[in-house]
Amino acid sequence: MDFRLSPEEETLRKTVEEFVRERLIPLEPEFKDAPDIFEGSRWKSRARLSRDPVILRYIEIMEDLEKQAEAQGLWHLDVPKEYGGMQVSNVAMLAITEELEKSAVPFEFGNHVSNILYNCKGDQIEKFLWPCIRGEKTSAFGLTEPASGADPSMLQTTAVPNGDHFIINGTKMFPTFADVADFVQLFARLPDTKGREGVTCFLIETGTPGYRVTRSIETIAGSEPCELVFEDCRVPRSQVLGGVGNGWALNQAWLGARRFQVGIRAHGMAQRVLRVVAQLLGGDSADANKFVERIGYFLGELEALRTLSYFGAWKADQKMDVRSEAANVKLFGTELLHKIVDFALEIAGPTMLRKSHVLARYFRHARARRIIEGPSEIQRHIIQRALFREGVAGLELP
Ligand SMILES: Cc1cc2nc3c(=O)[nH]c(=O)nc-3n(C[C@H](O)[C@H](O)[C@H](O)COP(=O)(O)OP(=O)(O)OC[C@H]3O[C@@H](n4cnc5c(N)ncnc54)[C@H](O)[C@@H]3O)c2cc1C
Repeated sequence: MDFRLSPEEETLRKTVEEFVRERLIPLEPEFKDAPDIFEGSRWKSRARLSRDPVILRYIEIMEDLEKQAEAQGLWHLDVPKEYGGMQVSNVAMLAITEELEKSAVPFEFGNHVSNILYNCKGDQIEKFLWPCIRGEKTSAFGLTEPASGADPSMLQTTAVPNGDHFIINGTKMFPTFADVADFVQLFARLPDTKGREGVTCFLIETGTPGYRVTRSIETIAGSEPCELVFEDCRVPRSQVLGGVGNGWALNQAWLGARRFQVGIRAHGMAQRVLRVVAQLLGGDSADANKFVERIGYFLGELEALRTLSYFGAWKADQKMDVRSEAANVKLFGTELLHKIVDFALEIAGPTMLRKSHVLARYFRHARARRIIEGPSEIQRHIIQRALFREGVAGLELP
């Protein structure tokens, strides 16, 4: 096991470190009250619809940062080399995110490209993949349904073959940004299949007859997920992603790859929260002494989270099975972050419950992270399943 970066990756990490120190940290006061709209790499699609001068000012700053990052070669980092990207390893991507997380400015390198889109073939590449890489199009991810979320194998949306097309019927809940996305990666099942069998992923453009975004839902998480309805929506077979019946594997690949980023982001946000706590407590006053034990414990747990995230990313780079590590990182990272923000609010007292206060904002985001992309209960379920698969011996020390 070796988490060291190659000399090229280390140069890249240092460039990011410098970018964060020189470009992002000075902007922190300006972003103190920035609206949630700027969280994540898909902010452009919604923010650009706004005429609000405050939003327009933030867009200007973000676009300027984007230009600076591109000029320094900090773009397309995880895009495969065949598409002109740098294809950095999972471990290096973690090191880069760790640097970015040192700043509270919600800036990310690169355009949003769902990793399963690299399964595009033939015309799909020009139509869906390239525009996402270039930042001209964005996509939504349509998996959750009113009756299937924590367990997506229960999904009920149907895809019935009809000549060169499929006819899609069903409802999707919560695809983030679907109201402003150019297309959705939609998961549906073939007739007479159940569980993980027959699940197929379709690329469906917004505006396709029979596909409607029926509402968007304001959430405490900052993003606005949507409800989508498909009524006899005809989709050409050429818009199946990754082959008919291969949707389950795509869904797993999408979740697996993102988990280690979730861990390092939780780590970064928790550290920023603890910095706010340190400021509130003011050095080594008597007040601070009351909490040193708990803070020391949190710092130890954060170091464990960091190592767990790098370990998972390293295993993913070795193409090893990371299902358990992915669940461990999601569970441990999001629960720990929530515990630390809760502690910070306890120390800060009621004035910090002001809606726009940074701790209140972190609290909303931290709580949502325990649910989005698979709730904690399901992660525990995945972890205990590994125990019964491997037996108690799997837990014995060597
Ligand atoms: C802000 C936001 C953005 C989202 N973005 C997307 C998106 O882009 N695309 C998408 O497809 N989905 C998205 N989701 C959906 C999200 O992934 C689901 O909400 C999540 O997977 C839980 O599914 P559910 O809401 O149907 O909960 P349910 O499956 O109804 O579960 C509800 C609760 O019951 C408990 N539970 C369920 N099963 C078990 C079990 N077996 N054992 C113990 N406890 C259990 C858990 O605590 C769970 O939180 C988003 C959700 C939110 C809130």
